[in-house]
Amino acid sequence: MKILIVEDEPELATRIHSRLTEDGYRCESATLYKQAREKIYVYDYDLLILDINLPDGTGLDLIRLAKQEKSTTPIIVISARNSLNQKIEGLELGADDYLTKPFELAELTARVKSVLRRWSFDGSNQITAGNITVDPDDKTVTVDGADLNLTRTEYSLLLYFMANPNRVLSRDSIAEHIWGDHMDMADTFDFLYTHMKNLRKKIKDAGGTDPIKAVYGVGYKLVKL
Ligand code: CA
Repeated sequence: MKILIVEDEPELATRIHSRLTEDGYRCESATLYKQAREKIYVYDYDLLILDINLPDGTGLDLIRLAKQEKSTTPIIVISARNSLNQKIEGLELGADDYLTKPFELAELTARVKSVLRRWSFDGSNQITAGNITVDPDDKTVTVDGADLNLTRTEYSLLLYFMANPNRVLSRDSIAEHIWGDHMDMADTFDFLYTHMKNLRKKIKDAGGTDPIKAVYGVGYKLVKL
């Protein structure tokens, strides 16, 4: 799961970034409206966390932009206590949740979990494909009820496929989802092949029905009946 954090207060931005990284999310940060706009245009995120008041613009315009570009990406707005009108406007524009500063990081991570679950898995705590079950809360995977040990990258890959069943996911979008935009693409594809091979081998070795199909020259697709 890849999250963009847009917050111009350095200390708060850092605290959110490290907390969500500890929780296993892949995080990127932007401190300026322009930076955030660029990232939202170019990259796919699973969640946007947006501060409303930025030095060079407003988070509300970022919501408008995100809705124009990728209408399904969920959004959590964080803003100052005295901005009720902005809260209402943010929710009207399509933000999924709203947190008033100052807030406990535990509260933010609870909201993040809940928004992502609502969005990816229709409210269910577990997601299955064939005899494979993923529990995003516990970050566990089972095959026919038996635990399957995956590396963090393999788990992230599987969860990404589970969240996007029956959709062809390009190598670019998978690599970007897992490693962000900081890696050289040629290297990234080699890494991706290796991790995909290992993931699929582990599933098969555990007696799982491998639901992932390679789509020649494009990427991969999780087939779910
Ligand atoms: Ca601010």
